Amino acid sequence: MKARIWLVLVVAAFAAALIGAVTLPSTAIPAAAEEGEAPPCNHAWDSGRTTKAPSCTTPGEKIVTCILCGITQRDDIPATGHNYEVLVIKEATCSATGLVEHVCLICNSRYEEVIPTKSHDYQKIEVDGDDYYCHDWKYECQVCGSFYYESSGTEERTAHNVANATALLSVEPTCTTPGARMGKCAACGEYGIMEVPALGHDWVMESQSYDQSSGMTVNYYFCSRCNEIKTEEVEAAEGSLGVSVDLSEILNRVAEYYQNSIYEPYADLLLMLFGIFAGIWGIPVGISYIIARKQDDKEKARKMLVNFVLGIVVSFCLLVAAPFLVDVFMQVIISVT
Ligand SMILES: [Zn+2]
Ligand SMILES: [Zn+2]
Ligand SMILES: [Zn+2]
Ligand SMILES: [Zn+2]
Ligand SMILES: [Zn+2]
Repeated sequence: MKARIWLVLVVAAFAAALIGAVTLPSTAIPAAAEEGEAPPCNHAWDSGRTTKAPSCTTPGEKIVTCILCGITQRDDIPATGHNYEVLVIKEATCSATGLVEHVCLICNSRYEEVIPTKSHDYQKIEVDGDDYYCHDWKYECQVCGSFYYESSGTEERTAHNVANATALLSVEPTCTTPGARMGKCAACGEYGIMEVPALGHDWVMESQSYDQSSGMTVNYYFCSRCNEIKTEEVEAAEGSLGVSVDLSEILNRVAEYYQNSIYEPYADLLLMLFGIFAGIWGIPVGISYIIARKQDDKEKARKMLVNFVLGIVVSFCLLVAAPFLVDVFMQVIISVT
């Protein structure tokens, strides 16, 4: 009994497996297979036959064949990329950049590349202190000779600092000449000499005037220490200074106007007027003077003469000497303002 059951079960299982084998794959087979075509090939491509060789920058082409089904297809061959060789045109140094050229061995394309400067090859040298400078270390490049001092980090040595030390000896600086001071250096402890820079002048403005011809204001200075003097021309300023400058300019123009427009063109006429005036007035005064002298009235005669002389002087000033007098008057006013 048991054996028969087992047989039935085994047969049933076999039958089920057989049905499954036939029916299940049928659902996975594509439509094409159902129409009677061969099942798809999982192509296995060969290495192919090159139809166009690739270059450094452009891809090539090849035909590949499936070793299973014999089908062929076109494939890209990637660009190979450049194969550069480096040519040194100029070696980089510690003071200058270098230059190399990259040249492709295949296509000859090329480009230049700047190589950064190398660092200096410093040697450390001990430098003894002296009268003016502290002991120091000097770093000097073996290649280019550039150097710096350890204490300052620059090409300048560090001078002794005796500014606040008790001076063993000192020469005071003047406006234009440097002084010196000898004492114990605060930085290195050695005795040394420190140069004290010249003080430079201490300019104090003394006065200011306006230069009519250049239109500039001239400042006059003196040094409060050594009495050196200097002048400085500056553009005439606006504001309060400008007012006085403008006033003197106006006065100058008035003087010029009188001289150029009135006295110069009419100089001859004015001189003639003066002559006529002196003559016309001189005749009656002369007659009266003679009469007074004859009447022995010396006091009256003297007064008449004085009045006459004063009148002549005043009219001479007004008619002939006026341009010169106006000029003098204006200069006085300008110098006061
Ligand atoms: Zn295939
Ligand atoms: Zn190339
Ligand atoms: Zn160097
Ligand atoms: Zn020192
Ligand atoms: Zn000075």
